Amino acid sequence: MKLFKFLRKAEKEIPRNLEKKNIIRKKNVGAVFIQQLIDGEMFGFGEPWQLTSDSLSAVVPILRKFDRDRNYLVLQEIPKAKVNVADSGRINRLSFELKGVKRPVFVRAGTIFKGHGTQSRTSSIGVVLAPKKLNLVEVFCVHASHGISPRSGLSTMIDVVPRKVENVLTSPFKSQMMIWRAAAVRGFRARVTVCPGCGSSKLLQTYEAEIVCMQCGYVISPTLRNDPGNEVVPRIRVGDATNRVRQRTRRDDLITNLDEMRKFNQEVEKMLSKIPADLNSQIGIVIIDSRGVLGLEIFDHPDSWRAFSRSIVHNYADILAKERAGDRLFELKTDKVSDAIRRFLEKAQKLSETSTFKNKISETWMFSGELAGEYTTMGSDVIHLTLKRKATKYA
Ligand SMILES: [Zn+2]
Repeated sequence: MKLFKFLRKAEKEIPRNLEKKNIIRKKNVGAVFIQQLIDGEMFGFGEPWQLTSDSLSAVVPILRKFDRDRNYLVLQEIPKAKVNVADSGRINRLSFELKGVKRPVFVRAGTIFKGHGTQSRTSSIGVVLAPKKLNLVEVFCVHASHGISPRSGLSTMIDVVPRKVENVLTSPFKSQMMIWRAAAVRGFRARVTVCPGCGSSKLLQTYEAEIVCMQCGYVISPTLRNDPGNEVVPRIRVGDATNRVRQRTRRDDLITNLDEMRKFNQEVEKMLSKIPADLNSQIGIVIIDSRGVLGLEIFDHPDSWRAFSRSIVHNYADILAKERAGDRLFELKTDKVSDAIRRFLEKAQKLSETSTFKNKISETWMFSGELAGEYTTMGSDVIHLTLKRKATKYA
């Protein structure tokens, strides 16, 4: 009687267990990779770098311990003539064709495509383009008031979208409206050339037109102008973009906003270049702020990381400048940094993963739970992973 019961139970459980195992193995490619980061056999973390000894923030380089080959390229490494990016005529799709490129090509989420006669876009998720094929890539518009012109070309930019837009991309609820809201800059930078706090001229402009002193962390808010002409009016009508009445404002144009920011920041470029982004065998970074790990980004190969290193690091420059211990009540103990990273990675192991893109050569999974992010695999290898603390607001 007892034996019979046992057999019946076993009959029920064995197949279910097998099934369960399969699901776990399939789901946890990201978790396996995160475990490797914790174990530290293949990867290591470099010395934390701070802007000043008072900073509450730090950058920690992620280093690879062994060399390995790479069987793909990243889009920013390819000459413009070898990739054809065209408007599909739909707001959320661009078509990509590789010309004479034999290896697959990774496109990072948040890559900016500048429209030539059509609206500019950003890629919604990380994807790997297949050679000799027409690839359709999911995108969002980053210039609300500009129209769409089918078949018009777009070019790939080196810069990635600012953090505010990236936070929307890693949200499971992302929408075109949220991207427009995050890309629009409402304020104008104050006309200051020296810091009112310390007199330094090393001023940094954030994407939101805030001015931050790189010397003492003083923050000057953007001046808001209540001009009805500055309202973002999304235009998604398909047609010839040249016949359109021009908007009085370009504040909804992500590329123009970035250009303005970059021009202003030329002054502090020397300071920014000290942030460790291009160490030998560096494949990523961890950003630490006063609350612990803010986020991390990692590739599987130094060449992939190098294609993005500067633009990613610059995206965090304002945090590095702003976070200071004014009253010395808090301080960032650099010996506690590795514990903070470990806790963050342990949290990451508990996240759920949903497949968001799949083709014959790659798959991309989005994390959800306590943290946000995504990763892309080719075969059984993770080629790129981002993880960050969840944003509390998106615009
Ligand atoms: Zn200052």
